[in-house]
Amino acid sequence: MNHKVIIEPFRIKTVEKIKMTTENERKNLIKNAFYNPFLLKAEDVIIDLLTDSGTSAMSADQWAGILKGDESYAGARSWYKMKDAIQNMTGYEYILPTHQGRAAEHLLYGKIGGKGKVFISNTHFDTTRANIEYSGAKAIDCPIPEGLIPDLDHPFKGNMDTRALEENILKYGKENIAAVILTVTNNSGGGQPASLQNAKEVSEICQKYGILFILDSCRIAENAYFIKQREKQAKEMTYLEIAQKMFSYADGTIMSAKKDALVNMGGFLALKDKNLFNSLMTALIVTEGFATYGGLSGRDMEAIAIGLKEVFEHDYLHYRIRSTTYLGEKLKDMGISVISPIGGHAVYIDAKAFYPHIPVEQFPGQALTIELYKTGGIRAVEIGSVMFGAKDDKGNFVPAKMELVRMAIPRRVYTQSHIDYVVEVFAELLKYKDKVKGYKITWEPEFLRHFTAHFEPV
Ligand SMILES: *Cc1c(COP(=O)(O)O)cnc(C)c1O
Repeated sequence: MNHKVIIEPFRIKTVEKIKMTTENERKNLIKNAFYNPFLLKAEDVIIDLLTDSGTSAMSADQWAGILKGDESYAGARSWYKMKDAIQNMTGYEYILPTHQGRAAEHLLYGKIGGKGKVFISNTHFDTTRANIEYSGAKAIDCPIPEGLIPDLDHPFKGNMDTRALEENILKYGKENIAAVILTVTNNSGGGQPASLQNAKEVSEICQKYGILFILDSCRIAENAYFIKQREKQAKEMTYLEIAQKMFSYADGTIMSAKKDALVNMGGFLALKDKNLFNSLMTALIVTEGFATYGGLSGRDMEAIAIGLKEVFEHDYLHYRIRSTTYLGEKLKDMGISVISPIGGHAVYIDAKAFYPHIPVEQFPGQALTIELYKTGGIRAVEIGSVMFGAKDDKGNFVPAKMELVRMAIPRRVYTQSHIDYVVEVFAELLKYKDKVKGYKITWEPEFLRHFTAHFEPV
């Protein structure tokens, strides 16, 4: 029998207490945090949906592995376990461990980037773009047009627009394209998957012009789940086989282990090409650590090796994707506008539709994150004009393309009743949504203002 209720496929062995707060306490706490959820103390949050990065719960096997970690400086046993797991998953021979994903990005894109170089991606994740631009190179996003329409259903909204890819290669000249990067799932595009067919086509174009093809594989297992559900050729394949096939199309990969390796810290770079690997080794040793640990402890590497196996288990992936979809569908049923189809790791709410009476220059997304906290102690993140809004030459406000609020789901951390609670809080917010007012910024830093800006109700 196929049961309708999909249970968490784990029992809870260790628990972490959630500190309960009252609405009155939270009104003060958020005021004292200058109405910026990033400035709250984490212990004052009841359900923390700020990010899925580094927030996973590790398994009993991973914790047992932590005790077995080999902390030798060179050639540690734990390094060989991590290397084996990565080689098995990717099929690539040359592995460089790093303390997190962006360190791998800095190594590779710093080396092959620089002034005059161009990178093309389905969508560059923010640290990816930052590392590319920091090197002096240019980053161009080529998502398929369907990927930019929030409520349009499409099985692979994370795909790269291969026509736009080829046009850009011809426009900038193939010798100036440092790499093509396919991000799976497409984080900035709402956690939407890219298909095997798309990876194959991107690979063929890269081969035709002799361009390096890199997979940003932070959420490769979640992407494989969607492929198995939605792409005919993959129906009989295992999730690991799907991932292996996807890796086979690329020349290398960068992975933040804080996502689908189910650990709290770590990352790596894996390559097919020995020369490129050798050319990065010195920089790795100078900035991260010796080649058999990068910036990682032996115990971290042990946990990554185990996490990379656990993440491809059917029961885990089924529960993972289902629990994200569950939240998205419940909100949709209440008439709340969310990005669809629901992605792998997060639910994105259209805050402009939720608070149509709040003008974009008064940040409807920020208002929604503040109401979520005050009413339910829930922490989410604004992805709208606070994060991406700008000023033109005359000092006029230029809003972001969309005013979204992202609720990212940590892996194996919350149960269905936690999520039901989030849904209930939304039902309450709907009741008095016309009364909610916007916010203004009272202080902001020069860069990346969303992390530290101060706000005040209008
Ligand atoms: C998180 C992330 C990164 C960067 O990894 P960190 O470990 O946070 O440095 C790069 N690309 C994507 C798609 C990510 O989600």
